Amino acid sequence: MSDNGPLRMRHEGARRRTLTVAEKRQLTPHYLSIHFKCDDFGGFVSTSPDDHIKLFLPQDGPSAGRPIMRDYTPRGFDPADGTMILDFALHHPAGPATAWAITAKIGDRIEIGGPRGSVLLPDDCDWYWLIGDETALPAIARRIEEWPGKPIRALIAVTDADEQLQLAGDDIHWLHRPSALAHDPVALVEAVAALALPAGRGFIWIAAEAGVARALRDVVLDKGQPLARIKASGYWTQGVADGHARLD
Ligand SMILES: Cc1cc2nc3c(=O)[nH]c(=O)nc-3n(C[C@H](O)[C@H](O)[C@H](O)COP(=O)(O)OP(=O)(O)OC[C@H]3O[C@@H](n4cnc5c(N)ncnc54)[C@H](O)[C@@H]3O)c2cc1C
Repeated sequence: MSDNGPLRMRHEGARRRTLTVAEKRQLTPHYLSIHFKCDDFGGFVSTSPDDHIKLFLPQDGPSAGRPIMRDYTPRGFDPADGTMILDFALHHPAGPATAWAITAKIGDRIEIGGPRGSVLLPDDCDWYWLIGDETALPAIARRIEEWPGKPIRALIAVTDADEQLQLAGDDIHWLHRPSALAHDPVALVEAVAALALPAGRGFIWIAAEAGVARALRDVVLDKGQPLARIKASGYWTQGVADGHARLD
């Protein structure tokens, strides 16, 4: 494992697969978990909790045949059992992926592609901070589960207490801000600014709206966290469809 920062790996042979909706679980008023079956899981690899797959959403009209693509985190998967879980943070007004999730019925099918690669965080740090919003919850929940016993602190912004999930970790901090202000960095920035970096070598993972993620990255840089041990991503961008923004 690199001492300096994350390690990127590519997955050869990532290909399209068809998922079939098996079950829908409304975990909170705005957080929907969809459980899928897949008969074709051979070769599926997801090495890191923040991997993403592409969801291919069918289009009607003149653009038919050119699917809309959106990124989602494989929240859970079991190739032996042929099952996958994707969790959807439901936003309003809904984009195509959110609308699909809300209206999907048991038996509906959808194509996915990837993950085409993984970014492995150094696993020997003295501490980890995971900071994000609702869209980061699948990756945060999965990382806490996959790294039991690691010194992980999570700071997560959601609308209110009804949107909080039961996570496996014991150092989870929920922040509340109106859904209309999900692109406003204030709540998370103030919470992070009030914390001192723990002693030792730490890693800070950030995923939220692009402007929020950028502001958080700047705050932790100002505190002295080395850039090599920050992974910050814009999981969506206010006012932009498919607004993934890589910040490294
Ligand atoms: C690597 C990666 C992994 C991701 N994993 C997940 C995941 O597991 N679960 C998940 O829910 N999301 C996840 N996201 C975020 C998700 O891809 C985006 O929110 C996506 O834009 C939703 O697509 P859509 O079709 O619903 O909306 P779009 O058509 O992309 O956007 C339509 C409008 O909605 C706004 N918008 C988009 N997302 C939000 C939001 N969350 N809140 C408020 N407004 C929004 C946009 O600014 C735009 O104005 C991930 C993103 C990345 C990059």
